Amino acid sequence: MDDPQKTIYVTQPLLPALDEFVPYLEQIWANKWLTNDGPFHRQLEQALNEYLGVKHLALFANGTLALITALQALRITGEVITTPYSFVATAHSLLWNGIKPVFVDIDPVTLNLDPEKIAAAITPQTTAIMPVHCYGHPCDVERIQQIADNYGLKVIYDAAHAFAVQRHDGSVLNHGDLSVLSFHATKVFNTFEGGAIICHDAKTKQHIDYLKNFGFEDEKTVVAPGINGKMSEINSAFGLLQLKGIDAALLQRRSIDARYRTELAAVDGIVCLPDKGERISNYSYFPILVQPDYPMSRDALYQKLHDNGIHARRYFYPLISDFPMYRSMPSAAPENLPVARRVAEQVICLPIYPGLSDEEVDFILGLLKH
Ligand SMILES: *Cc1c(COP(=O)(O)O)cnc(C)c1O
Repeated sequence: MDDPQKTIYVTQPLLPALDEFVPYLEQIWANKWLTNDGPFHRQLEQALNEYLGVKHLALFANGTLALITALQALRITGEVITTPYSFVATAHSLLWNGIKPVFVDIDPVTLNLDPEKIAAAITPQTTAIMPVHCYGHPCDVERIQQIADNYGLKVIYDAAHAFAVQRHDGSVLNHGDLSVLSFHATKVFNTFEGGAIICHDAKTKQHIDYLKNFGFEDEKTVVAPGINGKMSEINSAFGLLQLKGIDAALLQRRSIDARYRTELAAVDGIVCLPDKGERISNYSYFPILVQPDYPMSRDALYQKLHDNGIHARRYFYPLISDFPMYRSMPSAAPENLPVARRVAEQVICLPIYPGLSDEEVDFILGLLKH
């Protein structure tokens, strides 16, 4: 590399040119409308509906508030079946609603919640399933819906990784009762902080809009114990500008994904995740699984990368079920989650973002090859 001191992070935020953002700021100053369903907020909801191919979308200040509100919107209580192999906010959103997470193991190929193991975890208290489209790869949405229908359960997808992901039948976000996106700075599409709930009908969208604004229906009517989950005009405007560059960004991610995939096919002991049924992927992460026959352990490789300025990340290690607020739950027991445990011990997510150069990718590949 040109600059051996440079640190390469697992991701870098997509940032349009600063001077392109100035007119948006000037417009906000002229409007004097800073938040509460302002013009940029409305435009971004409309633009995302069209871009993503969904009917109704409610913007939020972040993905975690959107998850918490999604559970409120469907009045979920009791127990919810979810995956231990995710970012901690998935399960935290349940605890914030006084709901007990029940962890079910993941599929060894897709790394998503294993549909075959869901039924055994259902009890009379179970009201919903909260799967994650891990790394943007679609869950087995048909099988999960079938189980939900059989047992009368709701399905809320944590789709934080699934921006722009399409299956043969269109956006993956159209599955389940609700889907939740995150627009955090580290995600494929970001609004600094932000998130959204996708729903199927105008009535649900209306209800979610009340819930994210303290429950206000009008000036003097409060219909629910809502929260403040609103996205501001600054974040919304940034999202609109960001959307202009998203297709180019996804193409750059795709070419990095392809280079890693081709080169790593020849490296013994490193397994890449195969495509998993998506027609259009977002290449949001590039996980590799370090196998026992690789010359060094996962953690030794992780350290080697760090020592060479490559800040790869072990997403998702530790498992959510290993954190103190979860680990004493019966479903968090290691013997209940053998696949998730093994994968958490093997995974490293490699840097992937628009702007990561060919030389940088070569440098990373060189470190992995010997
Ligand atoms: C990023 C992320 C979240 C949380 O989103 P925020 O916008 O950071 O609150 C939730 N779930 C998963 C799987 C995530 O990756």
